[in-house]
Order: sequence, then C-alpha cells, then structure tokens
Amino acid sequence: MRLIYDLDLPTLTNLLKEWDEPAYRAKQVWQGLYQHLYNSPEQFTNLSKSLREKMTENLTFMPFSVKVYQDSSDGHTRKTLFELPDKNLIEAVLMRYGDPADNPHPSPLSSPKGTPKERGARERRTLCISTQAGCAMGCVFCATGQMGFKRQLSSGEIVAQVMYYAQMLKKQDETVSNIVFMGMGEPFHNYENTMAAIDRLNDSEGYHFGARRFTISTVGLVPQIRRFADEQRQVNLAISLHAVDDDTRVAMMPVNKRYKIDEVLEACEYYVAKTSRRVTFEWALIHGVNDTPEVAKKLASKLRGLMCHVNAIPLNPTAGFDGKATDRQRAALFKESLEQAGIPCTIRMRRGIDINAGCGQLAGAVTGKS
Ligand code: SAH
Ligand code: SF4
Repeated sequence: MRLIYDLDLPTLTNLLKEWDEPAYRAKQVWQGLYQHLYNSPEQFTNLSKSLREKMTENLTFMPFSVKVYQDSSDGHTRKTLFELPDKNLIEAVLMRYGDPADNPHPSPLSSPKGTPKERGARERRTLCISTQAGCAMGCVFCATGQMGFKRQLSSGEIVAQVMYYAQMLKKQDETVSNIVFMGMGEPFHNYENTMAAIDRLNDSEGYHFGARRFTISTVGLVPQIRRFADEQRQVNLAISLHAVDDDTRVAMMPVNKRYKIDEVLEACEYYVAKTSRRVTFEWALIHGVNDTPEVAKKLASKLRGLMCHVNAIPLNPTAGFDGKATDRQRAALFKESLEQAGIPCTIRMRRGIDINAGCGQLAGAVTGKS
C-alpha cells in the first residue's frame, strides 16, 4: 500500500496512466484530495466504481492511527499523538489565537463582535507539525531531543498531519491558517521531504496553502540555511538560537560544536540578503541561564544590523532537564532590554502547558520518558 499523500501530481498522473485511466483523472483525484479534503475512496463519487476499488486496494489515506488526543483546559489547543505502523510516535498540535477584539479577557461588558462564524474567520489557527520521529540533534532542554532519533518522515507523512486537521476543521467550517514546522524533529535534517511536503501543500490546483503562511524552525544547520536562501522560497525562517555565547550554546545544543553562533548568523545575513525576508530567532527563556538584561544587551549587539525579530518563550519544563522557566517579570525585563537596544521582541505565552504541548512532550508522557 502506498500513502496517497506521498504522490506528487506527476507521480499520481503516471500511476493512473498505468491503470489505463484518461489523463484528466489525476486532476480529479488531486482536487478531491486537496480541495474537497476527501479521506476515503468512496467519497470520490465523480470517479468510476472500478477506479475507486483500485484506489482502495492500492492506496492508503491514513498513515497513522490516533494514539491519544488532548485538549487544553482553555479549549484553545488540541494535541494529537499519532502512531505510525512501525509503532513510532509523532505529534501535531493545533493552537487557536483569537482576534485581539475577542481575547484574552472577554467580559460581559465587552462582548466580542459578530457571529461565532465571523469570529472564527478572525481567529488564527496555527498547526504545529513534525518532520521526524524523534530528533538527532540532542538539545538538552527538549523532550524530543531527549528521546533521540527514530526515523525520517516521508513527505506524505508530513502532509497527512495537515490533512488530518484540515479535515477535522472543515466539519466546523474552519481552515488551518498557519503551519509551523516546530513539532518533533529537525526539518533541515529531513530537507528534501520537508520541501516536498511544502510544495505539495502549496500547489495552486490543490490545497493552495500560501508559502508565507509556513514557518520552518531550525536548530541552525548552516549549509541548509544557505541552500534554503538560494532557493528563495517565501516560507518564513526561524532559528533556535537560545544563547549568545558559544560555551552556553554548546552546553544546551550539541549542534553548536559543529556550527558556531557566528557562522549561523552569517548564514542568516546571507538569507536576508537573498530573500529580503526577516529572520526570527527563537529564545527559550531559562531562569539565570539566558534571561538576564546583560544577555539581552549582548544579544542585541550581535543581532544589530540584521533584519530580525526575537521570539522568546519561557522554557517548558521537561523530565530530562532541570532548568527553570523564567517568570513573567523577568521575561518582560528581557524584552525591554532587547527593545531598548533596538531589537524587536515578542514574549510568547506557553500554550497548552496542561496537555504537555511542548515539543515531544506528549510522546514522552505516553512512553513514560517525560
Ligand atoms: N528542530 C527544530 C524545530 C522543532 S523544535 C528547532 O529546534 O528549531 C521547535 C522549537 O521549540 C525550537 O525553537 C526549540 O528550541 C523549542 N523547544 C524545544 N524544547 C523546548 C522547551 N522545553 N521549552 C521551550 N522551547 C522548547
Ligand atoms: Fe531537535 Fe529541535 Fe528538539 Fe533540538 S529543539 S532536539 S533540534 S526538535
């Protein structure tokens, strides 16, 4: 059985040709899959019964089963743990961010404007997906890093996570609005399959998900950052920096032995020059390690002149790492120090903490390793 989402349009066209189907059939299947979001052959009522039977015999639409899903208590986050046929586990998380007019404190005195449907249209629904089962990069604070590398996901296994949620949201008349590669795994360590998944989801005759609504987050693999820059994609790029001196970063992220901070930043400059796009730096705030105003000032002087933005988020606690999360007050001070030195910074709130929504954490909870 082949996973239908593993097929790009030319491959699907060839397959249908082998089955003696006319050329236009491939487009019909493609549109059924990615525009109508069908998830079983029976739904393709515009195809012949014999073709639907062939699809049932040869193609699968669901490459994993749902092992667990959890909704956060505020109802804004749904996390799904999928089990692959080889028993490996991957995660995908949907996060809803309301319109500022509706959130964060709706009160009886300021009731949100519009019908639920209109409010739904203003809301952002960001889907965080995995590119690998486990991860080989070994960042010490990360639950996925703590479990090690299991295997690469195919492009279709990446696409299928999106389709699963898109099909679910469709039932409520909703759509995914952003896709971030911040689930399990290092997307640039599975470069080809990640890009193939983006291309498949971006196809204008299919799902047509805009390139600018994707964000790739990388640990900082320099050759791939440069390759990505050369390809001049419109996809957003985020770099997990987390430290401003090499000693601290090596202790947190072993990859820094190979690619030092200055090399990563040079690759980012190259990216900005090639694409004219801003880079985001991710910063997990760890109490007393990387959250002081001195660190913020040092970071600002390193980043000066680079078109960028810092996304800081208090550390999500994991079983294998004893660092503590920065509290609100210190986080606000960090942001202020960075901004005073000219670098824009956002503090992201931890989402879905009650459902282990940090990277790799639900899998760890189920296997007893987090
Ligand atoms: N491998 C990629 C993408 C997946 S991790 C990368 O590292 O960028 C997505 C983001 O979550 C990264 O910025 C990563 O550093 C961060 N992260 C991992 N574990 C975390 C934790 N315990 N607390 C806060 N952020 C964490
Ligand atoms: Fe891998 Fe990213 Fe986790 Fe590091 S933070 S171990 S690169 S998933």
